[in-house]
Amino acid sequence: MSIDRTTTSDVIIIGGGAAGLMCARVAGLRGKRVRVVEHANRCGKKILMSGGGRCNFTNTGTTPANFLSNNPHFCKSALARYTPQHFIDMVEAHGIAYHEKELGQLFCDESSKLIVKMLLDECADAGVRIDTSCSVEGVEKTDDGFRVRTTLGELRAPSLVVATGGLSIPSMGATGFGYELARQFGHTVLPTRAGLVPLTMTGKPQERFAELSGVSLPVTAQCNGRAFSNFMLITHRGVSGPAILQISSYWNVGDELLLDLLPQADAFETLKSLRASRPGIELRTALAEFFPKRFAERLCEVWFPSRPIRQYNDPQLREIATFLQAFPLIANGTEGYRTAEVTLGGVDTDELSSSTMMSKHLPGLHFIGEVVDVTGWLGGYNFQWAWASGNAAGMAV
Ligand SMILES: Cc1cc2nc3c(=O)[nH]c(=O)nc-3n(C[C@H](O)[C@H](O)[C@H](O)COP(=O)(O)OP(=O)(O)OC[C@H]3O[C@@H](n4cnc5c(N)ncnc54)[C@H](O)[C@@H]3O)c2cc1C
Repeated sequence: MSIDRTTTSDVIIIGGGAAGLMCARVAGLRGKRVRVVEHANRCGKKILMSGGGRCNFTNTGTTPANFLSNNPHFCKSALARYTPQHFIDMVEAHGIAYHEKELGQLFCDESSKLIVKMLLDECADAGVRIDTSCSVEGVEKTDDGFRVRTTLGELRAPSLVVATGGLSIPSMGATGFGYELARQFGHTVLPTRAGLVPLTMTGKPQERFAELSGVSLPVTAQCNGRAFSNFMLITHRGVSGPAILQISSYWNVGDELLLDLLPQADAFETLKSLRASRPGIELRTALAEFFPKRFAERLCEVWFPSRPIRQYNDPQLREIATFLQAFPLIANGTEGYRTAEVTLGGVDTDELSSSTMMSKHLPGLHFIGEVVDVTGWLGGYNFQWAWASGNAAGMAV
C-alpha cells in the first residue's frame, strides 16, 4: 500500500510489534487517527516466534519485582493500569484457547499467529492504518509535532510513539533505530546488552561439559543476590534452559555464578544416608540416582573419582556435597543478540513519564516496549510490559 505524499494523522507509531500494535489499538479506540509504520514485511514477527510458536502472552503473577530497570519503580504505574487480566479478557473475547504451563505463564493452545491476528483485527476495528515494508528515513520536530520521512512518503502528526523494540534477533527486523532516535532528541540511552540468553564457555570449563550436550537437569542458578530454580540444558557451546536464561540477565562477564545441582535436597544428608543404607554402591551409581547417568559419570571422571561410598568419610562427603550445591559455573560470555530474547538497558526511564511514557524533554514523543530500560524475566513478563506500556501511551496520545 502506498502512503499519499504527505499525510497528517493524530499519532504515528514506528514499529508494529507487541507494544506498537497495542498502543495503536488503544489510541484508535479513543478515536485518534493512527498510522503504524513497520519496516518488516509483516507485523509482530517476534510474537509469531515467541513461546516456541505458542506465545507466552502474559504471566498472571506479574509484579514490578519481575522487571530489571535502572529505576525499578518506573514500571509500576503502567503495569497497575493494564494488568494480565485485561489482556486475558481480550484473548477470551477473541475465542483464543490458552493454558497455564507453569508459574502463571499463559500460552496459546494452538499458535502465536492467533495473538497477532487478534491485535491486527483489533487495530482494524479501531480504524488504525498500518503500512508494512515501510522504512523510516528521518524524523524531524516541527512547530506542530513531528515529520516522519518514510520510503512511502511523508507523515505528520502531533504525537510520535517509538515502539521499535530491542536489538535481539536482528534477522527478525530488530534495529537500533529507536535508540538513535532517542539520542537525536536528547535522551540518554543506558548501555544495552543481551538478556535471557544462553551462556557460553570455552577452554577447560567447556571441555569438562563436552559430550554432555543435550543433558538437562533441575538447578538453582545464583548470581549477584538473585536465584532462579528451573531446568538447565547443556549445549555444545555452553549452557541454556530457563534457569540459565533467567540468571543471564543478572550476570556480567567475570561475575560469580553458582549452581545448586541438587536444589531439592540436602546433598550431605542424602549422601550420608546412602552410605548408611547401601555402603557398597559406587559414588557414580549413587549420583546417577539424582542426575542423568552421563552427567553423574562426568562428575566422577572430572571432579571426584568414584569409589564405594563407604570409603568416604564425613569431611570427604561434605566436600562433595558442598561442590554439588555450589558448583561454580565458569562462563566466558553469552550467545549475544543472535539468540537473546530481550535487550537489557535502553531509553533512560528518568527522562520519561511513567504514566504516559512521554518524553520529559519533548512533549508528544513517547517510547514504549523493549526500547525502554525495562526488561522482564522469562515467562510472559516482557509481553505484559509491551501491552502495559503500549496502553499507557495509547491512552495519552
Ligand atoms: C525468540 C523470542 C521468543 C520470545 N518469547 C517471549 C514470550 O513467549 N513471552 C514474552 O513475554 N516475551 C517473549 N519474547 C520477548 C518479546 O518478544 C519482546 O519483549 C516484545 O516483542 C517487545 O515488544 P516491542 O513491541 O517493544 O518490540 P517488538 O515486538 O520487537 O516490535 C518492534 C517492531 O519494530 C519494528 N522496527 C524496528 N525498527 C524499525 C524501524 N526502523 N522502522 C520501522 N519498524 C521498525 C520491528 O520490525 C518490529 O516489528 C521473546 C523474544 C524472542 C526473541
